[in-house]
Amino acid sequence: MKPPAFEYLAPRTLEQAVAALGAEDAKILAGGQSLVPMLNFRLLAPSLLVDITRIPGLDNVDDWDGGLRIGALTRHHALETSPLVRDRFPVLHAAMAEVAHLAIRNRGTIGGSLCHGDPAAELPGMAVLLDAQLQTTQRTIPAAEFYDGTLSTVLGADEILTDIMLPALPPGTGWGFEEFARRSGDFALAAVGVLIGGEVRIVAIGANEKPIRLLNAEALFNDASDIDAVAEAAGKEVSPEGDLHGSAEYRRHLVKVLTRRALRAAWERTS
Ligand SMILES: Cc1cc2nc3c(=O)[nH]c(=O)nc-3n(C[C@H](O)[C@H](O)[C@H](O)COP(=O)(O)OP(=O)(O)OC[C@H]3O[C@@H](n4cnc5c(N)ncnc54)[C@H](O)[C@@H]3O)c2cc1C
Repeated sequence: MKPPAFEYLAPRTLEQAVAALGAEDAKILAGGQSLVPMLNFRLLAPSLLVDITRIPGLDNVDDWDGGLRIGALTRHHALETSPLVRDRFPVLHAAMAEVAHLAIRNRGTIGGSLCHGDPAAELPGMAVLLDAQLQTTQRTIPAAEFYDGTLSTVLGADEILTDIMLPALPPGTGWGFEEFARRSGDFALAAVGVLIGGEVRIVAIGANEKPIRLLNAEALFNDASDIDAVAEAAGKEVSPEGDLHGSAEYRRHLVKVLTRRALRAAWERTS
């Protein structure tokens, strides 16, 4: 299908973009890998697309006090191949390989993925796991407070995500990322990310309306002898919905199995 007719604007500054978004029914266009299919399926019909990809300075990956500041226009493939990401956030490096296919990773941006907010997408889950701070044209929002439902964020209509800040992980942090999808490149049926550093953090992807930390399961973890009990608790803590790809019970089972595997991997990587 073809998209409905729309006006198109490609501003060169954030100020121009924000001003344009004040127009009725305007939508930000980044990599277009989620927005354009939605236009083609006529799920959206904005009167104006504001293409932010010509705004300079929003696609860098830089040091941020030992962590990283990632521009919202950084493409998935740039993240996947960034030595800084691989060295400082290996869990994010591992997750990037599971995001769609190379052609989509060449176009899609981290900001687009976070703002689209698919509950089965890897990047929103990574943002919650890594305690990201999301910088917009108006404020800084902790990733855990960014989503208010499926495909829904707290962003205002004229608010642009500009940077994603990832705080440095404690030295020796162990990590694990496990995903199950029907085919390579498909959205996850479920995925789990784990960090064992100063604290244990467990995030489930694709198992609720948005990515969530499994706080009850986390509280049970002291050492490797707890892994089975934590995994059991993780399966009980999520509230997946069933669809034609898998029942709710199947997804719960996946979260249990993936948590066990991710925790084991994270424990073995702690030093
Ligand atoms: C076949 C297929 C398979 C895919 N598989 C996966 C997968 O397995 N895992 C996965 O995570 N993703 C997957 N995707 C989605 C892909 O990762 C997209 O690139 C991503 O979701 C959107 O990024 P984008 O830059 O293309 O954003 P766009 O499509 O341009 O925009 C998406 C939404 O975010 C808004 N937006 C974009 N940038 C900003 C910003 N800076 N500030 C505020 N709002 C903004 C837009 O207005 C729009 O509402 C898949 C896509 C396709 C087509």
